[in-house]
Amino acid sequence: MEKGHKYDRYVVDITTQYPGYPEPSHHGAWIAKVNGDNFRNCNEYLPHWVVPETMEHTLELQNGVGHPPHVHKENELIFLIGSDPYHPEELGGVCTMSFGEEMEEHIITRTSLIYIPAGLPHGFYQVLSCEKPFIFFRVHQSPHLTTRARKDLMTQDQIERVWSWENFRDIGFEEEEYWDSKID
Ligand SMILES: [Zn+2]
Repeated sequence: MEKGHKYDRYVVDITTQYPGYPEPSHHGAWIAKVNGDNFRNCNEYLPHWVVPETMEHTLELQNGVGHPPHVHKENELIFLIGSDPYHPEELGGVCTMSFGEEMEEHIITRTSLIYIPAGLPHGFYQVLSCEKPFIFFRVHQSPHLTTRARKDLMTQDQIERVWSWENFRDIGFEEEEYWDSKID
């Protein structure tokens, strides 16, 4: 039977989606990124590897703050998946994430799912160490990510430590007076 190519676009190959492959991100190689731009009504999915070899660079960029506190309009899920199938509970690294107005800190050392309800402040996400490769897999339950920084939950020193505010710029909150009144 002749094989057609009608549905080729439904198999997203890392080597074709990323011209720079296998150049790693600041953590490790990308696996894929898809959202509503790729497929109609597709939520945003972003998996990438975290590997020991890039940890030095990762720690330098994170500079003790990592991904700073922020909120989304949609629910967010972060899967942290260890790569040892015989010890699947072992993450192979240590991550940290804080939640709420009080920035309650959690240290994550095991394969975990982090569920972040829409509107809940979260951040200072950092990879503190990586002994074995693991997978970071982020899902946003909307076709396009929205995000708003919560600088009011940070000290001036922490604000200045963020390596690139351009990477953490507000998206999708431009006309939201509700959030303005809540934050400022
Ligand atoms: Zn988030």
